Amino acid sequence: MIRSRLAGGLVPYTAGEQPVEKTIKLNTNENPYPPSPAVYRALGAFDAEKYRLYPDPTALSLRRAIAGYEGVGEENVFVGNGSDEVLSLAYAAFFGGEDKPVIFADVTYSFYEVFGSLYGVRYREVPLLPDFRLDVRGMAALAGEACGCVFANPNAPTSLAEEREDLLALVRAYAGKAVIADEAYADFSHVPSLVPDTEEYPNLLVVKTFSKSRSLAGARCGYAVGDKALIDALRTVKNCFNSYPVNAVTAAVAEAAVRDGAYFRECVSRIKSTRGSLVKSLRGLGFDVPDSDANFVFASHPEAGGAELQSALRKRGIVVRRFDRPRIADRLRITVGTEEDVSALIVALRETLGSRI
Ligand code: PMP
Repeated sequence: MIRSRLAGGLVPYTAGEQPVEKTIKLNTNENPYPPSPAVYRALGAFDAEKYRLYPDPTALSLRRAIAGYEGVGEENVFVGNGSDEVLSLAYAAFFGGEDKPVIFADVTYSFYEVFGSLYGVRYREVPLLPDFRLDVRGMAALAGEACGCVFANPNAPTSLAEEREDLLALVRAYAGKAVIADEAYADFSHVPSLVPDTEEYPNLLVVKTFSKSRSLAGARCGYAVGDKALIDALRTVKNCFNSYPVNAVTAAVAEAAVRDGAYFRECVSRIKSTRGSLVKSLRGLGFDVPDSDANFVFASHPEAGGAELQSALRKRGIVVRRFDRPRIADRLRITVGTEEDVSALIVALRETLGSRI
């Protein structure tokens, strides 16, 4: 039997279920609305003959469109096959120096830990504050003994966002070391993106995705914005791994999506409005739900455990996510779907809770 030198001790990330049967799918923070009509047009216009050739290894046309949208230079943009890949390449490029740990929260996107194990980068988890906020000061205090820092803003699965000034203080504490701001959900937040700050802070790398606010999870496209030196390093690492991570169709549809600002803004504002009614209805049933800055909410009920609620919903055809980890095992992470999805969810929860409401 062949034993893998690498895979032996690894515990990989577990992706949320993609059920084959029809469900109300509120477990992986996908967008409930279709991609922009411009994406349909770009797909229709795609000439299959182009598939004969490798795609542009630098995805220049897409990077130009993203740079235009973000107000930065194309040399400040790196694209990859989903932001997971961008994050993974950033770990390989920037973390692990002098065997110092990378710092992140104890409750956050679990891939941060997985990448640490994969690349042999030590990591140190800083516990969230009792109210689930990031301990930004605690993370800053460790800068001297760390190789860098990564956080999600808004954080997942808590849905909470930290203010820009607090995060910039963290970035300053890590001067000379990479700080990755994972903004997968930032388009749904009241806190502005840190992208404009990448001009002032050469150690700040902001990572974004087309999977949530742009309805393109299936296309697999993410990007990073940062100082040219950071972007060049990412490109070097990428070219040691796969010259063409973004396929030609994905590059075309992502470009179409990023150029359609009006549709994007409309979708985001619908999701934010549905989020408001979801939070209100859940609170009406007695749930504890923090105000969300993301396209999901993080809810627990004083009278019912998380596992019970998750399986009761599953039996009613509604899929939500739960993480069996200390402090959060009784919380459900529920994606903001359509208004109809939310109504069905609330009916199912009311039935499940019965006399306990
Ligand atoms: N960061 C966070 C915080 C996420 O929740 C996700 C989605 N699972 C990602 C990054 C990755 O998104 P994608 O690879 O689809 O761009």
